[in-house]
Amino acid sequence: MTPVRRQYLKIKEAYRDSIVLFRMGDFYETFDDDARLVARELDITLTSRNLGKNLRVPMAGVPAVAVESYLARLVKKGHQVALCEQLSDPALSKGLVDRDVVRVVTPGTVFEDSLLDQRANNYLAAVTAQGEQAGLAYADITTGEFAAAQMPAAQLPLELSRIAPAETLVSPPAMSLLPDSADVGNADDAGNIPAAAPDSREAPWRLTPADAAPFEPETAAARLLAHFRIHTLESFGCEDLPLAVSAAGAIIDYLERTRPSAGDGFGARVQLNHLSVYSAQQYMALDARARRNLELFQGGRGEQRELSLLAALDRTRTVLGARLLRRWLGQPLLDLTALERRLDAVESFYRDGITRSAAAAALSDVPDLERIMGRVTAGTVAPRELLALKTGLDALPELRQRVTDLGLHWLQSDLPPAPEVTGLIEAALRPEPSGAVGDGNVIRPGFSPEIDQLKDASANARQYIAGLERKERERTGIRSLKVGYNQVFGYYIEVSKANTAALPPDYIRRQTLTNAERYIVPELKEYESLALTARERLAEAETEVYRRVCAQVAESAAAIARAAAAIAQADVFCGLAQAAVDHNYVRPVVDHGPEIRIREGRHPVVERVLPPGRYVPNDVELSRDARVLVLTGPNMAGKSTYIRQAALITLMAQTGSFVPAAEAHIGLVDRIFTRVGLQDDLATGQSTFMVEMVETAAILNQATPRSLVILDEIGRGTSTYDGLSIARSVIEHLHNDPRLGCKTLFATHYHELTQLAATLPGVRNYRVAVTEEGSDVVFLHRILPGGADRSYGVHVARLAGLPPGVVNRAWEVLADLESQADGRRKRANPATRQPPSQQLALFAPGPSLADTVRALDVPNMTPLEALNKLYELQEEANREGYI
Ligand code: ADP
Repeated sequence: MTPVRRQYLKIKEAYRDSIVLFRMGDFYETFDDDARLVARELDITLTSRNLGKNLRVPMAGVPAVAVESYLARLVKKGHQVALCEQLSDPALSKGLVDRDVVRVVTPGTVFEDSLLDQRANNYLAAVTAQGEQAGLAYADITTGEFAAAQMPAAQLPLELSRIAPAETLVSPPAMSLLPDSADVGNADDAGNIPAAAPDSREAPWRLTPADAAPFEPETAAARLLAHFRIHTLESFGCEDLPLAVSAAGAIIDYLERTRPSAGDGFGARVQLNHLSVYSAQQYMALDARARRNLELFQGGRGEQRELSLLAALDRTRTVLGARLLRRWLGQPLLDLTALERRLDAVESFYRDGITRSAAAAALSDVPDLERIMGRVTAGTVAPRELLALKTGLDALPELRQRVTDLGLHWLQSDLPPAPEVTGLIEAALRPEPSGAVGDGNVIRPGFSPEIDQLKDASANARQYIAGLERKERERTGIRSLKVGYNQVFGYYIEVSKANTAALPPDYIRRQTLTNAERYIVPELKEYESLALTARERLAEAETEVYRRVCAQVAESAAAIARAAAAIAQADVFCGLAQAAVDHNYVRPVVDHGPEIRIREGRHPVVERVLPPGRYVPNDVELSRDARVLVLTGPNMAGKSTYIRQAALITLMAQTGSFVPAAEAHIGLVDRIFTRVGLQDDLATGQSTFMVEMVETAAILNQATPRSLVILDEIGRGTSTYDGLSIARSVIEHLHNDPRLGCKTLFATHYHELTQLAATLPGVRNYRVAVTEEGSDVVFLHRILPGGADRSYGVHVARLAGLPPGVVNRAWEVLADLESQADGRRKRANPATRQPPSQQLALFAPGPSLADTVRALDVPNMTPLEALNKLYELQEEANREGYI
């Protein structure tokens, strides 16, 4: 075995879970199984190499210059990669070059731009549990955000899916709380459903099982104290939240372990300079399913960004604002005071168009301060980014003035100008730095006397060399004399053989060619070494000065982070105001009441897709007395749009946004549940119907009186009778169970369900208006009180382009079924005839029985008549179950 092989195996042993990229000259090589894997995943050639006697090892390599793009692909595919570098200069080291892993790249710890979505956060999370409690922490190392919370264990999956981390470290006791994506939604024997579990179809759900040790409360607390260089955790408010502390400590531990070389001072310490402790009860709960169903971040068939709520609202000018808006939409507020403050801010920007455009213009200059500061503290920031940082900070006074103009004093105090930092960058850097740090074109002349001197020296030397040719030609009289340079001898003077006789005595011969001789003179060598050392020392000096500047900027990291957060907020407020102006939104009234009243509401995304003026606005009235709306109407009439619109307006209001309506009054909602549409979950091997029932069960188990539930087409995945029965009992349960009583919007094409309003006082019927023109049905998209009387399924089928033969046959079959149902009804109860248009009136006997009773003229009945009637009614009631 060669020494390199031995070195490799030792390193690989320590990083067994990672693909080890082993630096060898200009390549990163992988070996053995890693090589096979990498060759497959990256589609590169698998070769092999002799690394010992009779030892041929599979090998696959990528060029070092392009390593970032390969890293990106491996990490996106969920692999963890250890970068093993050469630590000593191969040219200088005798024997084996030192190598070690300097960084382990995982989905939660990347900071390369090419690996990140600029407009979304990239979170690393850690979770742990003990008994009924769970702790969670998450960090975005590129922006410095770091937060932790403690909560009931049952809430953990939901909270985690809100954060949607790229990677989650799971302590052994927390493992059982987070079902594998494959089990999501499966009921246990008792019928309990881990339904809050995030959905495998949503976003990354990458769990990394972690050791228990870093989660040990004492170890974790000690690590936090050391990291923040403080003596007590009290200032963070987490001294009584041991599980939050243990999760936060585990994050720091992981970050340190993935950057093993990070111990050495400047640039190494990943900068998380503040821990915010929060309570999971601060936010409206929105599971992954609701986020997807409501199309918050992606919408339409192709999951496009443009068809999402985020796209409709996002008028932010900075990526700081874009990320914050995204975060806010995923966690609407429950705290009325905080919410009013946001709405006030949006309103100020809304009312003052001039300030709004001025603020927007100032914001446009602000770069990604958070990620730039991340690189400043990590020591990887480029000079151009520092200049961008300065431009961003230069916008502070203007922004501060604007928010002051608007009376937003609480925001203003976080936007202090940062003259030390901007002044320093201005003084230290050239306005147009070029080349790498160390090439001599980054630091501004006049900033460092040492650099200036070295540059003078090297310029002098170069000048001397440049002038040498002319000087020597004059001195020797040889007109063909040349000064040249090569790698081996450095500078030399070349003289053709014919002219060598009369050379001055200080010429020293160095090389003989066929037709010429090459010489040096001592003075030339002096200047040469001067030029070379000056260049080397210049590189060192410039690097050093640049590092000092960065370190000094890094000292303001906390203040800049605060400013970045304030800028992000100003940007979101200004952007939301702009969206409100552009789309004609109004400020919602929010309170803790039980009502949701929306006048002339619109769906924020659908209205943008339709031609202007084509969207038909509709009202929503939900209150304690009218808490279940049953909405009937044919397919394509606009039912789903309507119920989602109600949910979206509520969500927008609780985010602090204005809403698409003429007027809106929103009683805060603790959670929005959705069961929408038919989706086969082939990925997890569940049938459509199973998924539907699992989701419905979750809602019934978890909703509270303060929740808003939207249910679309429950019971469609099975036969009509089953479906209807389930739909009906679900509505009854939602309505009657005192633990629930939640506000519910129920869309269905089963018009039979409208009969529930007769027996359940909190149920209201609405229908989507349609008109018939000949055999065509026209959708008016207007929601009116009352129930629909038919499904128009065949009409819709015709509109969809089913062949005429099929449509006609469907009409026949329908007529047949209707007359059969009619006949059965007549036999069952000849007294109450249903209008013929009511096809398949499955629940007809129920309410019709009530109608019959209501219609009785009791005072004018004889006792015998009454007795007979009672008998008749009883018979009918007995029959109900059979129909
Ligand atoms: P349903 O749920 O009843 O099958 P959808 O809600 O999916 O119907 O709506 C079908 C289509 O009708 C939508 O894609 C939209 O283009 C249009 N639509 C829905 N509501 C409205 C409205 N209020 N105004 C105008 N068009 C609407």
